[in-house]
Amino acid sequence: MKKYDYLIVGAGLFGSIFAYEANKRGKKCLIIDKRDHIGGNIYCKNIEGINVHQYGAHIFHTSNKKIWDYVNSFVEFNRYTNSPIANYKGEIYNLPFNMNTFNKLWGVVTPQEAKGKIEEQKRELGIIEPKNLEEQAISLVGTDIYTKLIKGYTEKQWGRSATELPAFIIKRLPVRFTYDNNYFNDKYQGIPEGGYNLIIEKMLENIEVNLSTDFFKKREELSSLAEKIVFTGMIDEFYNYKFGTLEYRSLKFEHETINSENYQGVAVVNYTEREVPYTRVIEHKHFEYGLQEKTVITREYPVDWKIGDEPYYPINDEKNNSLFEKYKELSLKEKNVIFGGRLGNYKYYDMHQVIEVALDTLRKEGI
Ligand code: FAD
Ligand code: UDP
Repeated sequence: MKKYDYLIVGAGLFGSIFAYEANKRGKKCLIIDKRDHIGGNIYCKNIEGINVHQYGAHIFHTSNKKIWDYVNSFVEFNRYTNSPIANYKGEIYNLPFNMNTFNKLWGVVTPQEAKGKIEEQKRELGIIEPKNLEEQAISLVGTDIYTKLIKGYTEKQWGRSATELPAFIIKRLPVRFTYDNNYFNDKYQGIPEGGYNLIIEKMLENIEVNLSTDFFKKREELSSLAEKIVFTGMIDEFYNYKFGTLEYRSLKFEHETINSENYQGVAVVNYTEREVPYTRVIEHKHFEYGLQEKTVITREYPVDWKIGDEPYYPINDEKNNSLFEKYKELSLKEKNVIFGGRLGNYKYYDMHQVIEVALDTLRKEGI
């Protein structure tokens, strides 16, 4: 008999849900994380009374009522609706691409006029079947928006040309012919009142947690403690990169406390020109309508990833996806290891998707 039913590697959203649900069903769990805090990338640090999203802006959104009810059972969510703006060389545009954006750019007033403009620009390039992000973007919004609001942002975010990126990345963003600045189409959206940490703290209330513990530093010892392992780190690292390294994109976050009550008037400003080295500036207090005297902002700089850096984004192009398939094949043969989360499944998951997959994984485990 081993001491634990499950050793869970990673105290992010996936690992924490698994631990919480398994514990509820009488399973004994140990959760570890190499970081010195729980929550993974949704972790917030309280600075000047403001919940600062340490690893980038996190806005919860879903159309699945069950998932919405699930997160709200841990903490109440506020009515925050993400309406970021884009700053291109000092010009301000509304996001996502909608009638406000089209009006500012072209002076068009009606949806018909906006559609006409886009069609005209698309026709000039003769794109029928978009093959990459650039062609997909031009097909959706035309060359003017592509040049000012997409190309520069995308190429610095991903460190490669938009012609080398998969089209699906740009399809994350709505294109709307209404005057609606809501960044998401989902039915439910908000920020947990009091911050994301409250959710993870509740989930791990009755779970043994070992922080600053890297699985790979004591692999054998840790593995021997439990019947099964739930692994939410990098799947290629788990297999010692035997087929090669999957590529990721990393980020550098620069947090600054400012002696001002309101710095930019909105939570998220995207800097879409290539020359500005960061992609976004986040002003955290606006997520929770904070009235503090000071404010905290974060500049988000995309950076190249190499082994040892934080792997924030999987790069789901064809080359990496086919390499992932090889690792996945190995993983399916494992009887005692379950892979989950953004890194374990090498997928550009948002939070609601991670929750869906975690609950599904528990169902498949039959617990
Ligand atoms: P993670 O949160 O990455 O957790 C994995 C954990 O495993 C980490 O804590 C890591 O330290 C630990 N770990 C890894 N390897 C080891 C090891 N060897 N030993 C011990 N521990 C290990 N989603 C949204 O829905 N809305 C948003 O607005 C949004 N914004 C985002 C912005 C950014 C910049 C990023 C990067 C992501 C964003 N996401 C957003 C996605 C969201 O962060 C993820 O869907 C979710 O947090 C993933 O949870 P996870 O448990 O899979 O991974
Ligand atoms: N994007 C862009 N301009 C913007 C915002 C987004 O070109 O102002 C593109 C960019 O390629 C980005 C993708 O749309 O990677 C998806 O944006 P999202 O905001 O969903 O990215 P995330 O929050 O996941 O980093």
